[in-house]
Formats: sequence, structure tokens, C-alpha cells
Amino acid sequence: MDPKQEKWDTTWLLFAQMMAERHSKCASKSVACVIVKDEKPISIGINGTPSQHVNCNEIFLKQHGVFYKSINENVLESDTTIHNGEVFYRCNNQQEHHEWSKQHEIHAEINALGKLAADSTSARHATAYVTHSPCHACSLALIASKIDRVVYTTGYEYGDGLNLMRQSGIEVVHLPLTEQYFLEKILDKGL
Ligand SMILES: [Zn+2]
Ligand SMILES: [Zn+2]
Repeated sequence: MDPKQEKWDTTWLLFAQMMAERHSKCASKSVACVIVKDEKPISIGINGTPSQHVNCNEIFLKQHGVFYKSINENVLESDTTIHNGEVFYRCNNQQEHHEWSKQHEIHAEINALGKLAADSTSARHATAYVTHSPCHACSLALIASKIDRVVYTTGYEYGDGLNLMRQSGIEVVHLPLTEQYFLEKILDKGL
């Protein structure tokens, strides 16, 4: 890849990563999508519930790979953990967040494309920078938006949309961020 292109790709991915880490309110995953067109960011989407709806992290908490909930639905005493002064109870069903999320949370890519649609702005020929590889449904939405490129840093367990996008002529780039970024820092310093 052209080094100049790779430097910009890394920059926008780092931006997406920072948006995700600092602003996502999902207890499970922090995902962001930044859509860049003509070298400008035109939309930013973060995974989460619609505004004015209750946030995922007000209900769920994930600690060391285990999901807890702010409401105890168990008759029997269950494992608890304290987070920011609040008691959370271990979820009996560890799939509960996934099921709730499907009903309530909008994926970052859909949020980013939705904001563009609200402003009647086109994503045609733009690049989507996403922290996680897009899922099937988001891949279809990105195809429909006529986006040219998708750059992602982390492989997502439900990320089976990559081949769909490639079939539609979208350039899909996997850029593992940490290695790339730290490699650049080392090279910049001439170490
Ligand atoms: Zn969530
Ligand atoms: Zn998705």
C-alpha cells in the first residue's frame, strides 16, 4: 500500500478507536465508524441505543468476560460485583446482552450512515473506518450506500460480511492498528 495512504488510514482508524473507547456506552464492545470523503470526516457513528433511550451500560456490566446486570432477577442469591458504587448481579443467561443488544442497540456503521441520510449527504466513493469488521447486516448497508473502501482494525466474531463487500467491488482493508501504529512510532524515532 502507498505509505501516504497507509498513514492516513492509520490516523482515521486511531480516531475511530478513540471515539469508540471514550464514547461507546455498550457494556460489551466499543465500536465506532468514521466515514471519510475527500479527506474529510463526514460522519461518525458509535454503537449504542438511540438518544433518549436507556444505555446498555446502565443495565449491563462486563467484567473479566462475565456479564452482570443492574437488576437481580434471580430468586436465589447470585454473584455480585460493585461498579461505580452500584451493585450488579451475575446474569444467569450470558447470551442475554447479545439478545438485548440486537433489539436495542444500533451498530456504529448504521449510526454513521443514518446521520448522513438525515442530512441528505451521500457516502458514495467514501471510505468507512471501523474499529471492528462489519457484521452481515452492516456490510449490506455499506454496499447499498455505494461506499468505495472499508478499513477495519479488529476481526469481529460475527464479522461475516467481508466477502459480501468484496463481491460488490468494495476494497476491504485489514489494518491491525496497534502493531502498525507502534511500528510507525519506532520508525519515526529511528530506533
Ligand atoms: Zn451493549
Ligand atoms: Zn453491524
